[in-house]
Amino acid sequence: MSKWSRMEKELELLKEKNLFRNMTIFDSAQSTQVMVEGEQRYLFSSNSYLDMCNDSKVKEYAAGVMDEYGIGSGGSRLTTGTSRIHIQLEAVIAALKKREAALVFNTGYMANAGIISALTRKGDVIYSDELNHASIIDGCRLSKADLVIYRHNDMKDLEKKIRANPGRCGLIVSDGVFSMDGDIVNLPGLVELANRYELLSMIDEAHATGVIGATGRGTEEYYSMEGSVDVLMGTLSKSIGSEGGFVCGSHTLIQYLINKARSFLFSTALSPVSMAASIQGIRQIMECPQRVRKLQDNIRYCCEALKKRGINAFSETAIIPVIIGDEGRAMEIMELLKQRSYYISAIRYPTVAKGSARLRITLMSSHTPKEIDGLADALAACMMNANER
Ligand SMILES: *Cc1c(COP(=O)(O)O)cnc(C)c1O
Repeated sequence: MSKWSRMEKELELLKEKNLFRNMTIFDSAQSTQVMVEGEQRYLFSSNSYLDMCNDSKVKEYAAGVMDEYGIGSGGSRLTTGTSRIHIQLEAVIAALKKREAALVFNTGYMANAGIISALTRKGDVIYSDELNHASIIDGCRLSKADLVIYRHNDMKDLEKKIRANPGRCGLIVSDGVFSMDGDIVNLPGLVELANRYELLSMIDEAHATGVIGATGRGTEEYYSMEGSVDVLMGTLSKSIGSEGGFVCGSHTLIQYLINKARSFLFSTALSPVSMAASIQGIRQIMECPQRVRKLQDNIRYCCEALKKRGINAFSETAIIPVIIGDEGRAMEIMELLKQRSYYISAIRYPTVAKGSARLRITLMSSHTPKEIDGLADALAACMMNANER
């Protein structure tokens, strides 16, 4: 046996199970229409929900900062990597989320990894929703606390599990909008339990910021519960169209994380250019809530368009999953859609459970009703053709 045979076997196995993955190469900015694999396609799978990646105001502002501050940050945040732009971005995030303070991490993944492992210690319990994002799961793995998984969005199950660990400190953590199902956390239930049992509450706003709530401020605004979550985490890489992760909350929380979160401490700070893009992206949300409303209109329109064509779809968020089940069939439908110039990602195990493969439609504020109708027609036709095989 060569030292490579284990890897080769594993790759063969993935191919047999339709679980082998490749990267798709894009030759244009991320927007509603893209150049992908050498073809022009309608994109319904981007996380850039507010179509901010290629926004001219954002680019102009970031270019100005690039001229002044250059490209790299030159150090970690606690050495030489904190520019004036980083501090400005943190103030803008705190304002968006109505919090005392905020802290930027290099990615949302690193934020979850650093926050969860810093806030919990041996003897504590982390209560985590079974459908939480992989970065939350990895944050839990980095922590020395015990991990308790509760049934998806099931507050009865959560309370039962909390009561089985009387008097123990810890954290309840959940996605605000679940990344593969597009449903929304039961925030009133979660916050009530956290407060009653003296646990920290933590919500991941990756798919909520810029999407839900009347002005796009996320899960708390959706429920009119501003200020109720202890640890509000999110990312700058989705609706805000840039890159980076963030957390916001009290001064105590932020000072603690600056001192204790290892993924914050031991990595070079992001470029001032991406920080600037995030600042301008957030300003667009705060100054122009019509953009958020347009996205919300598109979500309603798309669910209706799919239902009209017999496709079961419901969502209040930019993520509309169409469950296919079989991994091979999901891949096949994705390929058929490409032939009709639509790009939608098929999502498979291990991102979702085995046998629950799906097409994950995501919308942008700039999709037109005509484009959405075109997608619904194409999807209905491709699902039928894939059926017949
Ligand atoms: C995308 C995502 C992250 C990770 O954010 P990045 O900035 O892409 O690293 C974390 N949590 C959830 C729920 C996500 O969807």
